[in-house]
Amino acid sequence: MDEKSKNKPPSGLERVKRWLYAKDIEERASGCVLCGSCYGHGPINPMEDEPGPKTKCPPYEFYRFQRFTPKSRWLMSQRVFHGLDTITPELKEVIYTCTTCLMCQETCGVRDDGYGPWDITAAMREEITAKEGPIEAHRPLLESLKRHDNPWSQPQSERGKWADGLGLKTLGSGKASTLLFAGCSADQPHGRAGAVALAKLMKHAGEPFVILGAEESCCGLYARDLGFRDEYHRLQEKNQRAIKTAGITTIVTACGSCTRIWREYPKEETAGVELLHAVEYLERLVRSGKLKFKKAARKKIVYHDPCHLGRGCGVYEAPRNLLRAVPGVELVEMPRNRRWAWCCGGGGGVPEAYPELARWNAEDRLKEARETGAELMVTTSAVCLRSFSSGENALPIQDLLEFLSQSL
Ligand code: SF4
Ligand code: SF4
Repeated sequence: MDEKSKNKPPSGLERVKRWLYAKDIEERASGCVLCGSCYGHGPINPMEDEPGPKTKCPPYEFYRFQRFTPKSRWLMSQRVFHGLDTITPELKEVIYTCTTCLMCQETCGVRDDGYGPWDITAAMREEITAKEGPIEAHRPLLESLKRHDNPWSQPQSERGKWADGLGLKTLGSGKASTLLFAGCSADQPHGRAGAVALAKLMKHAGEPFVILGAEESCCGLYARDLGFRDEYHRLQEKNQRAIKTAGITTIVTACGSCTRIWREYPKEETAGVELLHAVEYLERLVRSGKLKFKKAARKKIVYHDPCHLGRGCGVYEAPRNLLRAVPGVELVEMPRNRRWAWCCGGGGGVPEAYPELARWNAEDRLKEARETGAELMVTTSAVCLRSFSSGENALPIQDLLEFLSQSL
C-alpha cells in the first residue's frame, strides 16, 4: 500500500463499521435495535413531551413496503458488511430512494451512540460507488462534478454569472474577512434570486464581504449524499484551501444545503471560521439595528423548513424571526414544522433516479402548505425551490431572502 492510500480516510461501510455490530473491533459495537421509531406511525418516544410526527420516512410513506424504511436500509447494509448479501438491483433501489431528509437521524435513539440510519445509508452508497460505480441516473452528476466542480454540467468559466452587474468584490480583488458562498445553484434558475438578494441585503447593511466568483466550487453536497466520497474530499479540500489562503473568518451561505455541508467539514479544518446561513447572519443585523425592513407586506405567509437547514443544522427560529420583522406579515405554520417538517423530495439524487417519488413528496408538502390558507410560501434552500417550482398544489413560492430584499 502506498503512502497516499495509507493516509486516505476510510469510506463505505468500513467507515461506519462500529455501527454494524462488527464485534471484533476494539470499540463497543452497536447498531439498529429494531425499535421502529424511524418509520412507525406511533410516537417516537412515549416519554417525550413532544410526541413527534406520524409520517417520518418519505420513501416508506410512498411505497409502503417495509424494505423502504430507514431500519431496513441499516439492516441491509449490515448484511452486506458481514458478507451475508451482495449488492443487488433491489438493494440499490432501497438505498437510492432515500431523499436525505434526515428525519431518521432525528428520531433514532441509537444516534445518541454516534451515527444514525442516514449515515449508514450514505456509507452504503459509498460502498456501491467504490465497487460498481454510480447508478446510471447519478452518473452525469458525478461526471459533472469531476469536470466542472458543480453537478449541473455548467462550465466553470460561467460560474459566478449570478453576480454580474452587482459590483461585488471577488476574493482576489478585494479584502474582507467575510465570504458570501453562493453555491452551485446561484447560477441556476432556482438559486439565483436567493444569492442576489443576500448580496443586496449585505450591501444595504454596509457589511464588507467578498465572493469567490468563478473560483467557487460545489460545497460537496451531491458528492457527500450520493456516495462519491473521493469527490467529496477533493471539493472539501479545495474549498478549505481557498478560505485559508484568503484569511476568511466568516462564511455566509445562501442555501441551507451548503450550510449543512460546510458544517460537516472536519472541525479542525474550519477552526476559527464561523459558518452561518444567511438567515442567521441577517437576524444578527436586524437585532443590531443595521438592517430594517420598512416596506409592509400585508400577507399570510408560511415558511417551509428545508431539511438540511432545519434538522441538518438546527436552524428553525432565525427565518421566522426575520419574517416577523417585516411589518404586516402574518406568519402561519404547517402542522409538520421545525424538527418534524416534511421533506420537499428534492435531495439525495431522488429527482434524478426516482422522479415519481420526488414529485409525490413535493405535492404532499405543497398540499399541506396550501391548507394553511397562506398566500405565499417562502423557504431558503435552492433544493426545495427546485422541487416546488411546479406542481398541481403549487401556491406562490419565493426565496425568503428575495422576499426580505423586497421589504427594505
Ligand atoms: S434520511 Fe429521510 S428518506 Fe432517508 S432513510 Fe432517513 S427518513 Fe428515510
Ligand atoms: S434505525 Fe434507529 S429508529 Fe429505526 S428501527 Fe433501528 S434503532 Fe429504531
